[in-house]
Amino acid sequence: MASPGRIGVTDPPSFELPEKARATAARAIDRGLCSECFGRLFGRLGHGLTNPERSRRVTDALGHAPLGEGPECPVCGGLFLRIPTWVERCVRAAEGVEWHRFTCGSRWDPERLAREEALWIEVGTEWGESARSAFNRELGKKVEAASGAAGGTDRPDVVFLADLTVGRVEVTVLPLYVRGRYRKLDRTLPQTRWPCRRCRGRGCTTCGGTGKTYPTSVEEIVAAPFLTATGAETSRFHGMGREDIDARMLGRGRPFVLELVRPRTRTVDLAEMAGELARDPLGRVEVLDLAPSEGPEVVRVKEANPEKSYRVGVVGEVPVGKVNEALNLALSQAIAQRTPKRVAHRRSDRVRTRRVVAARVVEATEGRFTLDIRTEAGTYVKEWVEGDDGRTNPSLSSLVGVPLKVEFLDVLEIHDTEV
Ligand SMILES: [Zn+2]
Ligand SMILES: [Zn+2]
Repeated sequence: MASPGRIGVTDPPSFELPEKARATAARAIDRGLCSECFGRLFGRLGHGLTNPERSRRVTDALGHAPLGEGPECPVCGGLFLRIPTWVERCVRAAEGVEWHRFTCGSRWDPERLAREEALWIEVGTEWGESARSAFNRELGKKVEAASGAAGGTDRPDVVFLADLTVGRVEVTVLPLYVRGRYRKLDRTLPQTRWPCRRCRGRGCTTCGGTGKTYPTSVEEIVAAPFLTATGAETSRFHGMGREDIDARMLGRGRPFVLELVRPRTRTVDLAEMAGELARDPLGRVEVLDLAPSEGPEVVRVKEANPEKSYRVGVVGEVPVGKVNEALNLALSQAIAQRTPKRVAHRRSDRVRTRRVVAARVVEATEGRFTLDIRTEAGTYVKEWVEGDDGRTNPSLSSLVGVPLKVEFLDVLEIHDTEV
């Protein structure tokens, strides 16, 4: 896909016709080409000229009359004269959608491309520009003029594909991205939409026709005002990892990127969105640091492996001195953690080595204690405390020699912005 990349060239036009090119011109001049197609044979000679202007320089040099615009041209058949129609088609195809940046491409039938290729061989040009690249560029310039939007490959809002084989423009509306951090204050909320296992989202008696296992999710709560404001068809939620449904997400929250698919409006007041989210009467989710984002940030968020801090409530008959001793020991050794039973159905069964980076008891009463711990990314904290029937080794339970049970778990911090 070519971009209208020559827009903005400001050097004074220049053109010189080498002897070899003069011979090519002589072979091509009487073939009934239009000035656009004739000029394009010399497209890579000189700069700052349109192809018809180039054609004029060449015909002048040969002492030949200027060539016409020629709807009868054997190469393009007058295609370049019909660019205004293609501009209208582009603008119409994107009606009802907000766009400020765009890219143009085109689909050609092979026959038309072959005609040009044959001509190049017959006349022997080394300087030709393909009709497709010239068409894309000229279309881009004229769409810019008609719409006030900026052409180019840099972060387009829409991509136009002029399909010359059927005379139609297809438009692709690119997603809109917003990033932020969420805090989850509720122990019944999954991070993303959770389709009903039985009906896979179609709706059945098990899910009461909703198609969902849980009535709502962080994703749905966060996306709701954005879907309304942008008219997007749907959303995708990319979190930097996820917490268990029954774990709260506290501290500065968890980074996410919200992807709005096929938005009709791209100008969104983020402060207003934050305000709407803050008005959730149930206060289940809080959103911080909303900011515009770009597609590549999704990858960064998905691939980040930050350490995490947790607060863990534990039930177990063990003196606090013994817990402290065990924690000291735990910090000095690696943990071999086999994929937990509870996630074995969706993760491959293997043993990973993880570390607890810091740990301390923050509260202890009879038969209960609360820990703050910081771990490497990917550590299964519940299993590290309880042992998972020996699948995590050593576990806190094995170190204190007493069965332990996690009563609650909160994520206190995702350490993504620390080195
Ligand atoms: Zn032509
Ligand atoms: Zn169902």
